Amino acid sequence: MMLVAGLIFLFTTRSKHSRLDTALFLQADGSADPRFHFMSPWQLAATPSAVRFDSPMGSADSALVYNAQKFWEMNEARHGHHTGDDLNGIGGMNTDLGDPVFATADGLVVHAGQPSPGWGNVVIISHRTMKGEILQSMYAHLLDFKVKPGDLVSRGQRIGSVGTANGYYPAHLHFEMRASDGVDLGAGYAANPLNHLDPMKTVTDLRNASPDALSPAPLAMILKEN
Ligand SMILES: [Zn+2]
Repeated sequence: MMLVAGLIFLFTTRSKHSRLDTALFLQADGSADPRFHFMSPWQLAATPSAVRFDSPMGSADSALVYNAQKFWEMNEARHGHHTGDDLNGIGGMNTDLGDPVFATADGLVVHAGQPSPGWGNVVIISHRTMKGEILQSMYAHLLDFKVKPGDLVSRGQRIGSVGTANGYYPAHLHFEMRASDGVDLGAGYAANPLNHLDPMKTVTDLRNASPDALSPAPLAMILKEN
């Protein structure tokens, strides 16, 4: 009987997780697996180029959004520096609960799931910059998500909704950017930035494509050729 139960458990836990999210298997104590997992060659090849990046919660200047806990602020209670930006609707508290969260740029979804109750739902998207670098954007504490690993998403596409991580926090979006081809959840607070980038600064820097990254205008080509 025990053996049968064990086999059923093994079968259901194995089939619940696709190969893409094995990086976020939980350990026995419920914390996320801290090992560093690299994206598969297929995922790297399938990561699309992103010409332009935008704020994951709205307009260019994010007029309706404020950054409640900025990147790398020290959080004594959490014994570390904040590894992302906490984006909130200007109404405060839970007024932004359920607000749309958008893909910051064209990309490939490499994780969508709930690694732990404190993280809530998490989506990770990989992007290829026009320089060819792989960046990952991470969206955490989501109320729900509308994508799955392997999905190609476009900039501004709704990928989920602002949530509270199962009531752990007032509603906000914990948003991270990483220079990495690894799927690495991290802890939200850290002593060393490692591959973490300043998220909103990165978005601002990549908001406008350089002129040569865009398709050249036909007239400009004709003038150049003659
Ligand atoms: Zn945060």
